[in-house]
Amino acid sequence: MTDYYQLLGVARDASAADIKKAYRQVALKFHPDRNEGSKESEERFKEVTRAYEVLRDPDQRSVYDRYGEEGLARAAGGAQGFGFSDPLEVFMRDFGGFGGLGDLFGGQGRRGHGPERGQSLKVRLRLTLAEVVKGAKRTLKVQALDVCGRCTGSGAEPGTDANTCATCGGTGEEQVVQRSVFGQLVSVQPCRACRGQGQVIDNPCKYCHGEGRERGESEVEVEIPPGVSSENYITLRGRGNAGPRGGSRGDLLVLLEVEDDPRFVRDGGELLYELPVTVGQAALGDEIEVPTVDGVARLRVPAGTQNGELLRLRGQGLPELGTARRGDQVVRVVVWVPDRLSPDQESIYRQLKTVEDPAPERIADADRGGFWSRVKEAFRAG
Ligand SMILES: [Zn+2]
Ligand SMILES: [Zn+2]
Repeated sequence: MTDYYQLLGVARDASAADIKKAYRQVALKFHPDRNEGSKESEERFKEVTRAYEVLRDPDQRSVYDRYGEEGLARAAGGAQGFGFSDPLEVFMRDFGGFGGLGDLFGGQGRRGHGPERGQSLKVRLRLTLAEVVKGAKRTLKVQALDVCGRCTGSGAEPGTDANTCATCGGTGEEQVVQRSVFGQLVSVQPCRACRGQGQVIDNPCKYCHGEGRERGESEVEVEIPPGVSSENYITLRGRGNAGPRGGSRGDLLVLLEVEDDPRFVRDGGELLYELPVTVGQAALGDEIEVPTVDGVARLRVPAGTQNGELLRLRGQGLPELGTARRGDQVVRVVVWVPDRLSPDQESIYRQLKTVEDPAPERIADADRGGFWSRVKEAFRAG
């Protein structure tokens, strides 16, 4: 039996905030969008989401604490367990958009019968690091199901109406009786005659055959705020598929993918950059042009700069999402030693060698400011 607390890696007395934080971390690791179709990741994603759904709800959590998973199933009054929302929807609901806009599926719950809501669609949008700095406006071509123009979504031929389903009397439900060794089992299922709609169409629309929808293509403007990362989504409400027979539209989810810029390693709002300099530049100091994410900047390398030293280009990093603050570009100086010398250079180096001071026995921590550990961490976080 899986332990929900263990799945999320939190203590049994963890606060709601800790649980949410822990879930976000593990869920991101197993998120289907980051694990190209891996069945195992998907299973893990479902598992941790289920654990999160239980532990985030004080009532369910207390039932779980006392009686475990079985207790939850009993409380829900069915062997199949409690109504478990689609794990992806749970994730999107709590972390989907930006800040407070993320409650995409919140409060919507499972529908009963009546017109079905259209599916939400996902599109991927690639951005460069430079676009992350300023934000971007893009026009997306979206292929979605639109409301049928002929029947305006009703599914019935113009001039005719849908009729109340005779099988279920319009409730959209039917009772199914099954005999078993325990006696009769009665369950309620969506009506098969009307597919749970409560209505039947005797004269289906000739264009959409009663679907109430047709294929369409439209252009959608998306505005991407500065400072996004590949973990962010933008939710455009009501821009997904139209629902069948007049159902409301689903949403359009724009999944952001920030392209790597091989020159930089991103660490939150900071960009890490490695700058090779010559021995002469390091010893005498120099002013060097350094590429930034959206241009070039001049960097003063002071005389006596050591290999591995960190310099900062203030405000040349990436903006923080939702603020105007921009991080720094952290420049790690790498002193390059020539591996081939012209006769002139060699004679100068020989002369220098006779007059230069000996190197100290030890040079203080070469990994100044933890540069490499941060680079490695940034790579791991991917
Ligand atoms: Zn139609
Ligand atoms: Zn029916």
